[in-house]
Amino acid sequence: MRNIDGAIGEGGGQVLRTCLALSIVTGQDFTIRNIRSSRKKPGLRPQHLNAVKIAAIISNANVYGAQQGSTQLSFSPRSIQPGKFTCEIGTAGSTALVLQTIYLPLSLLDQPSFITISGGTHAPLSPSFDFINQHWLHYLKRIGFDIQMEMVLAGFYPQGGGKIRGNIRPVKTIEPLNIPERGSLRQIRGYSGVANLDRRIAERQRNQVIHRLGSQYPLNDIRISQLPSKFKGTTVCLICEFEHSQSCYFSLGALGKPAEKVADEVCEKIEYFLSTNAVMDEYLADQLLLPLSFANGNSNFSTSKITNHLLTNAEIIRNFMNTDISIDGSAGNPGIIKITPYNQ
Ligand code: ATP
Repeated sequence: MRNIDGAIGEGGGQVLRTCLALSIVTGQDFTIRNIRSSRKKPGLRPQHLNAVKIAAIISNANVYGAQQGSTQLSFSPRSIQPGKFTCEIGTAGSTALVLQTIYLPLSLLDQPSFITISGGTHAPLSPSFDFINQHWLHYLKRIGFDIQMEMVLAGFYPQGGGKIRGNIRPVKTIEPLNIPERGSLRQIRGYSGVANLDRRIAERQRNQVIHRLGSQYPLNDIRISQLPSKFKGTTVCLICEFEHSQSCYFSLGALGKPAEKVADEVCEKIEYFLSTNAVMDEYLADQLLLPLSFANGNSNFSTSKITNHLLTNAEIIRNFMNTDISIDGSAGNPGIIKITPYNQ
């Protein structure tokens, strides 16, 4: 039985999600206290509670403490089973983060699984569906995973109401990721999208991206998209494609936030990334530690920023397994990540 202090590092939901995934894959029970103690409203919120529930369903786990607001939990997985699973978060809580809790154990089975998750697809401080579909999955496929996702409805913060569906097929081998350098920038592509709002808002977002980045970088056509959704929302998502890697950033509209500001936010992130020589954006970096800890070789790549999420995830993984994760560099600055899986 592992005893985890949820206050470790970032002290947010990621600590719990990584523990759930590792517990199911390695068959180790765990208890966690101080869940999300660094957050304004500590304890299990709907997204985290639903991640626990779906993790328990796929692994037939015995769970104590799975109530909203709970700051302690114990989780004992038994056998993992493939199947057709549905999860309704009920708020704008991130569907992507629930997916990231269970894709690894389900991928390691020899039968496919189907998952439907309702909630937020475009919420701050979590991966948007575009990030997941265009970027996270791009890398997961590159290392051997076979997952397909679709967004049935966009669910913008704060109302949510989104729905994603996925087909998670068995992974044969998880390959390591070694990208010594990103190479030259081939293009920046992406889209400007609105849901239930005037198309001109999406055009203003796009025009501002062109204004900010168009003269300096190889900017491809930024598509305009009308997203199916029950509520209103806007987003811009941009992908920088390099010779050997890609990075992805997005921003979200909000009531009273000018379209130009939405575009500026994503452009600033891209400008920072391009000012470094990093291979990997700071968000994907923390999200790849988990699958790469099960790869059949050592991984090595740079990231544009060593975040608290990265350091925290590394600590949790080291706690569960003998994975050697080294992160060279100082917090808040670019760094190099090396992952030596426990079985190497
Ligand atoms: P909490 O409410 O406790 O903050 P949480 O469960 O919503 O919890 P965190 O523990 O903060 O979330 O973890 C957030 C995850 O979302 C991290 O893996 C982080 O990389 C990812 N993330 C945050 N912002 C972005 C972004 N802009 N693009 C992609 N991923 C993001």
